[in-house]
Amino acid sequence: MDYRRLADVYAAVESTPKRLEKTAIIANFLKQVPDQELERIVHLLQARAFPSWEKETLGIASRVMLKTLASVLGTTEQKLEHSWKEEGDLALVAEKFASKRHQTLLVRQTLSTKKVYDTLRKVAGTEGSGSTDVKVKLLSEIFSLADSTELRYVVRTVLEDLRIGLADGTLRDAIVWASFPEKCPSAPDQEPANRDQYRAIVAVVQDAYDRTTDFAQVAVLARRGEGALREVKLRIGYPVKLMLASREPSFAKAFERTGVPAQLQFKYDGFRVQVHKLGEAVTLFTRRLENVTAAFPDIVSLVRERIHKDCLLDAEAIGIDPTTGHYVPFQQISQRIRRKHRVQELIAAMPMQLAVFDVLVWDNKETLQLPQSERFALLEQVLTNTDNMFCIATSVVASTPQEAQAFFVKSKEAGCEGVMVKSLSAPYRPGARVGDWVKQKETMENLDLAIIGAEWGEGKRSGWLTSFDLAVRDDSGEFLGVGRVGTGLKELESEGFSFSELTELLRPHILLEDGKHVSISPAIVIEVAYEEIQRSPSYDAGYALRFPRIIRNRSDERGPDDSTSLIYLEQLFAQQ
Ligand code: AMP
Repeated sequence: MDYRRLADVYAAVESTPKRLEKTAIIANFLKQVPDQELERIVHLLQARAFPSWEKETLGIASRVMLKTLASVLGTTEQKLEHSWKEEGDLALVAEKFASKRHQTLLVRQTLSTKKVYDTLRKVAGTEGSGSTDVKVKLLSEIFSLADSTELRYVVRTVLEDLRIGLADGTLRDAIVWASFPEKCPSAPDQEPANRDQYRAIVAVVQDAYDRTTDFAQVAVLARRGEGALREVKLRIGYPVKLMLASREPSFAKAFERTGVPAQLQFKYDGFRVQVHKLGEAVTLFTRRLENVTAAFPDIVSLVRERIHKDCLLDAEAIGIDPTTGHYVPFQQISQRIRRKHRVQELIAAMPMQLAVFDVLVWDNKETLQLPQSERFALLEQVLTNTDNMFCIATSVVASTPQEAQAFFVKSKEAGCEGVMVKSLSAPYRPGARVGDWVKQKETMENLDLAIIGAEWGEGKRSGWLTSFDLAVRDDSGEFLGVGRVGTGLKELESEGFSFSELTELLRPHILLEDGKHVSISPAIVIEVAYEEIQRSPSYDAGYALRFPRIIRNRSDERGPDDSTSLIYLEQLFAQQ
C-alpha cells in the first residue's frame, strides 16, 4: 500500500478532536486494508513496527534525527534546530522544509507502508559500533522518498509519538466498527441499533486484546469473526494485561463489593511482575507489558530453581534490606527496573523477594477461569518451596470489618502498604477493574496524573522544568487540567526522583514552547499526593488539588490511558 494513503488517514484523525469521528475514519480505512497488510498497518497506526511489548525500540536520539533530516533536506542541523525551538514539533519543521524541496522535483518514486515498516525494523535491529551511520543511511532512504505530508508522519513514527490523539480505546472501537458493522453505530453521530449487543462485542474485542496485548493480532482475529476472538488463549512468554483493583473507603464497603467471606492479602509495596516460565525460559513483564527480564537475573534464577512446571504467575517483587531482612519502600528499588548495566552490583545491594498472589496458567493449562479460592489453593498446593525470597502472598479469609482491620494492622507491621480484598468466587479477569479486587490503604489515595504542561525554571533551576500542569483523563480520552505541582522533586539525582530526571522524561513530548511555558503531550504519569480535592472553576476538570506533592514517577507502571480518570476523581471527592 502507498504510504500516502496511511498519511492521509493520520492527517484526518489528527484534524478532528472528536473521538467518534476518529473511530469512524480508522474503521473505514481498516475495512479497505488487505489481509496481508493488516498487521503491519495496525502497528503503524500505533507508531510501531512491533507489538507494543517487544523489547525493540528504535532508539533514535534527536541528534541522529537532525543529522539525517539536514542531509536529506539539504539544510543544516543548526537551521533545523532553530526552527524546531520556534515550532515545537520537529516533524512539522521537516514538513515545511520538504515542501520547499519538492517543488523542484518532477518525478518521485512512491513510498510504501512496507518500505517504512521494514526500514523501522532494520533500524531497531542495528546495534553496536558504527550503528549510527547505518541508521542514518536507512532513515535517509525513506525520508527522501517521502513527500512533505508523508515526512511529517514518518518523522513522528521514528520518534515513536504520532501526536494524532489516537488512544488505545479508539483503536479498539475502530476494529469493532470495521469487523462487526451490523452491531455498531452506522455513523459517528448515530446510536448503535442495540446498545447491549454493541457493548458485548466491544468487550469481546477488549478481552482478546487483554489476552494478546497486540491490536494487530486482534484485528486479524476480528476479521475471522467473534468465535476466533473468543477462542484466543494466553501464550506463555507473551504478556497479558493484568487484573486491576478498585478502591473503597472502608472494609465494610469493600465487602459489599466482594461478598463475604472474602480473601484478604497483604498489599506489598513493590512492583507488579508477570512471571512466564516455559521450559528453562523465564520472561518477566511489568504491568505495562515491558520486558524487564534482563534487569532481574536474580528473580529469573529464583523462578528456575523453585518452579518446575510451565506457568504464568502474577506476583509482586519487593525490595528487601539485606541487613535487616525488612521490606524497603518501592522508591528505593525503582532504579532496578531500568538498570541495564552493572545489574549484579545492585542485586547485592537491593535483593528482591517475589510474592506470588495468582496463577493464570499452570502446567500449560489455563487456570484463570477458576474462582479465586481454587486458584489460591492451587498456588498453596504447588509452590511449597517457599522462604523469605520466594513466597505466596500472606492471606486470611475474613467476613467482618473487625477481622479485616486486625489483618490490616498485621500487614502494616510487616512493612506492607495495606490490604487487598478479593472475592473468593471471582475468576481472574485480565485487564479488568471490576470490583472483584478492592484495595485498602490507610492514607488518602494518591493520584496518578499525566503531565500536560510545565514551566522552565530560573536561577539555579534553569535548564529544568520545575512546575508541572497535571491532568485527569475523561471518558472520551481527553486530558483535563486539575492543578499544578512544583514540590516533591529532588535537586540532586542521587537523592531520588529529581527535576533533571523528570525534565528528560518530558523533553521528547514537548509540543510547543511559549516563553517559559511548554505544552506537553500526555505521556508521562506521576504519582501525586495532596491534602484535599476542591471544586475549582480555574481548571478544566472542575476540581483542583490542595497542596499537591510529587511522590514518584509512575510511567513504568502506568501509561496515560490508565492514569486517574475524572470519574474516579469525582468518586474520591464524594468520599472525602
Ligand atoms: P495500586 O497500584 O495502588 O492501584 O494497587 C494495585 C497494585 O498493588 C497492583 O498492581 C500490584 O502491583 C500491587 N499489589 C501488592 N500486593 C498485591 C496483592 N496481594 N494482590 C494484588 N496486587 C497487589
